Amino acid sequence: MTVETRPLNFIEQLITKDLEEGRVQQVVTRFPPEPNGYLHIGHVKSICLNFGLAERFGGVCNLRFDDTNPAKEEQEYVDAIRNDVAWLGFQWHGEVRFASDYFEQLYQWALHLIREGKAYVCELNADEMREYRGTLTEPGRNSPWRDRPTDESLALFQKMREGSVPEGAMTLRARIDMAAPNMNMRDPVLYRIRKVAHHRTGDAWPIYPSYDFAHGQGDAIEGITHSICTLEFEDHRPLYDWLIENLPVPSRPRQYEFGRLNLNYTITSKRKLKQLVDEGYVDGWDDPRMPTVSGLRRRGVPPQALRQFCEMIGVTRSDGVVDMAMLDYAVRDELDKNAPRAMCVLKPLKVILTNYPEGQREDLSAPGHPVRDDLAERTLPFSRELYIDREDFREAANKQFKRLVLGKKVRLRNAYVIQADDVVKDEDGNILEVHCSYDAGTLGKDPADGVKPKGVIHWVAADTALDCEVRLYDRLFSEAEPDSGDRNFLDYVNPESLQVLQGCKAEPGLADARVDEGYQFEREGYFCLDSRYSQPGKPVFNRTIGLRDTWKQQS
Ligand code: ATP
Ligand code: MG
Repeated sequence: MTVETRPLNFIEQLITKDLEEGRVQQVVTRFPPEPNGYLHIGHVKSICLNFGLAERFGGVCNLRFDDTNPAKEEQEYVDAIRNDVAWLGFQWHGEVRFASDYFEQLYQWALHLIREGKAYVCELNADEMREYRGTLTEPGRNSPWRDRPTDESLALFQKMREGSVPEGAMTLRARIDMAAPNMNMRDPVLYRIRKVAHHRTGDAWPIYPSYDFAHGQGDAIEGITHSICTLEFEDHRPLYDWLIENLPVPSRPRQYEFGRLNLNYTITSKRKLKQLVDEGYVDGWDDPRMPTVSGLRRRGVPPQALRQFCEMIGVTRSDGVVDMAMLDYAVRDELDKNAPRAMCVLKPLKVILTNYPEGQREDLSAPGHPVRDDLAERTLPFSRELYIDREDFREAANKQFKRLVLGKKVRLRNAYVIQADDVVKDEDGNILEVHCSYDAGTLGKDPADGVKPKGVIHWVAADTALDCEVRLYDRLFSEAEPDSGDRNFLDYVNPESLQVLQGCKAEPGLADARVDEGYQFEREGYFCLDSRYSQPGKPVFNRTIGLRDTWKQQS
């Protein structure tokens, strides 16, 4: 189903109504990442939703960094996030924005709330505040500082801003209702003292606004019409609305929530992903096993596949766990349509064609893709010594094994029919070479005796083969829900999630392989050039995904 033909999701229905009834003239959405890690597949859902709505309804979508926590945020993450959003194929409106751009305005609005008697400086420490807050079943108690004079709060808040109050000694809190059933309305903290340098504002601010105080106000400043976030913020919506109502903000955005994406066999928490990186379980945020955008990209997943996946899973108001097989499906579907074909032998076994003239070479040609005529034909040099995969040869086998067997025939893909005549072994009985004869009359034709070999195997010519490394990946976790309940996700990291094969032999045309392009290695799967470890003349290929779902067969 395409974007145009599928039924509208609940947010699209809502927006359609807002436009029809004139509540909104132009849709303005935003994607608001916190720059404290790299984007993951869960964020892709939010990106596709926010940017997709803007595209669909002729609106715009901003990219705003929610940089209100100086301790965890870094420029590296800002750069990576911008890069990832652009790679996914989305263009944000105007310049990138930052919550920190609004620090001065937010400070002024905080003063406004104090003057209106709607905020106060509180001197309870963190433990006391927790105690006064009450529980889900018991109301909270008023802070002893709640009714201090406005002027006193104003003076203290200014002191906090100047940096003369120690960390933890005071906070600014909204004055709402300590008995509210919704805990977020029990005089939430609007500002904390943090004497930590910020990645953009340096030491200019010793106080930082809370997420709740920064987020909706940032939306209002930018004229966001639909502020879309995940369900865990549903309980924050009354506070979002309270702040918008009680501040002289330039517009009145509204918040809507949707169900977050959870994917089995992986995790979608930046904190946990960071732990995998920091503790060396993987080799960086862009490790091809990571569910990060940069990891998926390095793995060879095309951006169109991620967008298609998000279309497939849809947008609803409930959380759920999506089966990794759906992502795999989207990836295979996209690569099958677009990936040029090639041959690469992962576990090479030498084949010598004893009846092929020494020193002779033919340039055979093969289609770039079975149906895409726009993908150029490939040239496959053919000569007396070839490589086939070790797993494609057996000395003896039953009929199920439709590959090369001693005394039998097989077709070399895009080339001739050969017959295995003899094997050469070392002292330990390991097969070193297979001696075969080729049938010169079988290029693009059946053998003259009419006996068609059952199997087709891939190969490359030995003298012109491109030597390469191939990295095979499996799921990062061996458990479907590695972080459920009281599980420690680190206990379930799949020790076989990376397998490195050296000395693989690829058809020579792959010397021109480009990063960010997927290739189908015939009979093996989809592969891409690794952007980090490849060297001139010594490429490294990552397996993006196999041709079929091997997990289904195992479980
Ligand atoms: P994490 O839990 O990984 O730290 P986060 O929600 O704290 O994620 P943000 O950078 O604040 O990360 O997220 C930016 C936006 O992406 C938010 O609007 C958030 O709701 C959304 N988002 C984050 N994770 C998911 C997910 N798994 N599915 C859908 N949207 C998500
Ligand atoms: Mg967040």
